[in-house]
Amino acid sequence: FFNKLQQNGIYLNKNQAKACQHINGPLLTLAGAGTGKTTVLVARTSYLLYKGISPKNILIMTFTKKAANEMIERITKLTNPQLARQITSGTFHSVFLRLLRHQGFNQEILSEKNKLIALKIILKQLNLQDSYKPESLLATLSLLKNRMQATEELPEKDATQKQVKKILLKYEAWKKQTNKIDFDDILLETFFLFKNNKRLLTMMQQRFQYVLIDEFQDTNPLQYELIKMIAKPENNIMVVGDEKQCIYSFNSADHAIILGFERDFANVRVVTLDVNYRSPASVIGLGNEIIKHNKSTKSGNLLATKQNADKPMYLRPSTTTDEATAIVSEIKKHVASGKWQYSDIAILHRTLANSRSIFEALVQEGLPTISYSNGEMFYETAIIKPVIDYLRLAMNPEDMKAMSTILPSLYVNKETAMRFIEEQQLFYPKDRPLLHLLDMPNMKPFQKKKLKEVFALLQKVINKNPVSAIKEIRSSFYDKYLETTDKSNSLHKEMMIEALDELLESAKGHATIFAFVSYVDSIISEHQKMTEQGREIAGDAISLMTIHKSKGLEFPVVFLIGMSEDMLPHKTAIHADKMEDIFQEGEPFKQKMLALEEERRLAYVGVTRCKEELYISSPTYYRGAKADISRFLLEAFKMEKKQSVWDCTNSTCNGWMKVDNTADDKKERRCPFCKSQMMIADKAVLQ
Ligand code: ATP
Ligand code: MG
Repeated sequence: FFNKLQQNGIYLNKNQAKACQHINGPLLTLAGAGTGKTTVLVARTSYLLYKGISPKNILIMTFTKKAANEMIERITKLTNPQLARQITSGTFHSVFLRLLRHQGFNQEILSEKNKLIALKIILKQLNLQDSYKPESLLATLSLLKNRMQATEELPEKDATQKQVKKILLKYEAWKKQTNKIDFDDILLETFFLFKNNKRLLTMMQQRFQYVLIDEFQDTNPLQYELIKMIAKPENNIMVVGDEKQCIYSFNSADHAIILGFERDFANVRVVTLDVNYRSPASVIGLGNEIIKHNKSTKSGNLLATKQNADKPMYLRPSTTTDEATAIVSEIKKHVASGKWQYSDIAILHRTLANSRSIFEALVQEGLPTISYSNGEMFYETAIIKPVIDYLRLAMNPEDMKAMSTILPSLYVNKETAMRFIEEQQLFYPKDRPLLHLLDMPNMKPFQKKKLKEVFALLQKVINKNPVSAIKEIRSSFYDKYLETTDKSNSLHKEMMIEALDELLESAKGHATIFAFVSYVDSIISEHQKMTEQGREIAGDAISLMTIHKSKGLEFPVVFLIGMSEDMLPHKTAIHADKMEDIFQEGEPFKQKMLALEEERRLAYVGVTRCKEELYISSPTYYRGAKADISRFLLEAFKMEKKQSVWDCTNSTCNGWMKVDNTADDKKERRCPFCKSQMMIADKAVLQ
């Protein structure tokens, strides 16, 4: 067996081999990034097969489809492919949905879009459309479900709690009536199914005698309940994870679970791994320095195996556009050198808005890229798409597609309205087909009023430049909501403001709405070609993804962008005291600490993806506003305010170093990276 592993380049160390050969009983491997947790999980699965355990008795779960597929692929190489294929694997949702379907559950799974529409209508019915946004309510509901909190039992201590509870109950009732469920219901339904149907549960327990979970630190209480149920009574369960990489607490992931595993299962065999096989020593050093500032971190430093590699590079571009230009030029140099291919390179970002500049720069330079954004792209998000569609309609009143996205905000049924417009247009064509709606039967006064507002707005924006036009749309349709002060929506509001500001930024360079919209269209169509689905064969392409998506993955060259205050840590975490979710009690200060620690873990995940070269960049300005260097970098480098940053004068390098303010300013300093002369930079950066 070990020969076969070695033929495949896997030389397990002593502890890894121990975990690999473990067969019965619970096994916990809590270890840092790149120490071979996934490698061991794959090796052990192959070992189980080698020992004659049937693949039908094995269940592997992890957090993304991509990761699950990759594991099966790796197992396939190590064993008889026919056996490997019979293993049950996937994400929690995909595995349990298959089970539900098998049990005759026939409910339709609601799409994100339809969930939003349903909630919009409910809000309208309750006349609360200006107080809440469906997106934030859905986020709250998801959080509650993953904590197994029943909607009926939610507290009603203040007006907000009462209102939100009422809305959520109405939404749940609507789903029941129409035989629909949403994504989070999959796990909850499974939980109730197991609870109420002991025979089925026993069958599942007998079927899946070996359960293996990767990325266990991101398990939420509901998932953990399901795992515990299935693993009984033998508890042949292997979990691997790293509490320093728990980054899904917005999805109720709770790293207390991984830390409590030993308490919940008897006789747990614990195997520790502390040698990182992935990254250069300097990168690991940086990762260690970043994460050690988290109070909740338990395990010690990672040890390195790769010694002689380059130090991480720091780019301090002025704006996100400059950041994109610098990275594109680095990538070109990398590929031209012949040492790297595009597929060796990943660009990691914190938010979707944060990826806009870099994505557009990659498109403009024609660099092959795969965007791992689940098909989502900045201009097509729920926040931005309607704004673009208003612009489209202003230019072309007959744009049926744009019309149809705007209809839900008028609270008219999309299908009925579109059919009505098309029929009327056939016989009584109007320059503005949307006007027909004024004659549609059953239109209520408030709908007509809203429609007239839309016309007035379209009239207003048509001759404006795109920036003023977007500001106009924003003040008509968004500002009222953004100015409400109830705390339940503040997280969503912050994301909305970030996205709208980013949109204004992107509109800046364009003289007319027409120019801007055609630019947006070209970017959208490029994006379609660059998604996972759009690219038939992945081929040689740069990977562009959020830090969240990059968990568990590794790339030779990593660009971690946006290491600035308000981006990483994100603004929503810095202001977490305002963001505490409405059904959770607790002091705001604690909430803020937790949120900041999660951002620090994100930074740690980002840094530790790197196998060879790491670039970190912190733009000095975001959308015109000054952004300080991320506190995570300052902490890691023990930078203090009494120190200054010195910049490299070579504009293509942007290296920097810290110098004590008391040191001799006249002394010549050379850039540690390109050896050009250094110059004292704006001290405000460190304020
Ligand atoms: P993460 O926390 O990021 O998920 P991980 O602990 O799952 O990381 P792996 O992805 O399994 O780590 O391994 C990291 C890298 O180290 C991989 O490239 C893997 O092939 C390599 N590796 C693992 N174990 C060994 C070993 N014993 N010898 C050499 N390389 C190893
Ligand atoms: Mg892993």
